[in-house]
Amino acid sequence: MSASLLDGNKIASEIRGEVAAEVRTMTAAGVRPGLAVVLVGHNPASEIYVRGKVKASEEVGIHSEQLTPPENISTHALLDMVRELNGRDGIDGILVQLPLPAQVDAKKILLAVDPAKDVDGFHPMNVGFLSTQRPGLVPCTPAGIMEILRRSSVAIAGQEAVVVGRSDIVGKPTAMLLIKANATVTVCHSKTRDLPGVCRRADILVAAIGRAGMITREFVKPGAIVIDVGMNKVSERGEFERLFAGNAKREETFRTKGSVLVGDVHPEVVEVAGALTPVPGGVGPLTIAMLMSNTVKAAKMRRGSRVPELSRA
Ligand code: NDP
Repeated sequence: MSASLLDGNKIASEIRGEVAAEVRTMTAAGVRPGLAVVLVGHNPASEIYVRGKVKASEEVGIHSEQLTPPENISTHALLDMVRELNGRDGIDGILVQLPLPAQVDAKKILLAVDPAKDVDGFHPMNVGFLSTQRPGLVPCTPAGIMEILRRSSVAIAGQEAVVVGRSDIVGKPTAMLLIKANATVTVCHSKTRDLPGVCRRADILVAAIGRAGMITREFVKPGAIVIDVGMNKVSERGEFERLFAGNAKREETFRTKGSVLVGDVHPEVVEVAGALTPVPGGVGPLTIAMLMSNTVKAAKMRRGSRVPELSRA
């Protein structure tokens, strides 16, 4: 048996198409959704992420602004910047790219973002809305996981779901969304006893750990749906061999780039699972697509009554 692959690129592109159509309707009615991305300093990884977000915004027609304060900005000055964005009607989403430099109080900054514009869904008010099943802005990666499941017609209600990882960004909100969708949810972490045994109960297994190929075949019930959130760079030969011995395509990448991108799920799981998200090309593309979708959602929640076409929908 070989698992079918859940194509994140295809699903993300579907969502972007739908978002672009909504943006066109809203823009025609004078309410063009706007996203502000704040990038402090010059972290190379953050610069790549932010470029991707700005490019995606342009593609779907969202107005985007990039603010690039210097590395040595104070908490106070960054708070002023966030408050200014809070006050602007044309800005529907505010995203402060993490990590922030050490001198900045990141918690204070995230708390200052207007919850109605918190397109990352990290503000405690949105976290509360999610855990009490109220409408609000949901973190992008977990929202993307649910889109993959729904658009691939995976049954969720009544199923056993196991989420490995309890971070505020991925594990916990994913568990909340699965509960909302009527799954029976178990959340695991580094102190969980008999992790393979618990994972084997899962009809839907979500791995959000940050450890390359940790989820091997013994963690997976035959036929289970496996969602691999992990994004790990493997640049050590021994580790590469453990994961990809005999895989010519990956070998080529490893040789030319000196590293490969690997999920938390070992490639051998493809022989056991019923369906699986690949890395790359699985959950990753959904994260930016859901940021676009969240920006439109935020615009609709705050300014939607000004667009009669949308209130009729
Ligand atoms: P965190 O480091 O914040 O959380 C990792 C979680 O995994 C923790 O809850 C930790 O447990 C648990 N964990 C670590 N080691 C083990 C272990 N040996 N056994 C069981 N549980 C363990 O990571 P994130 O949630 O932010 O990210 C997880 C992964 O997802 C990363 O690879 C990240 O790069 C990727 N990611 C991908 C995104 C995408 O767009 N595809 C977006 C965001 C993240 P404990 O709480 O006990 O420490």
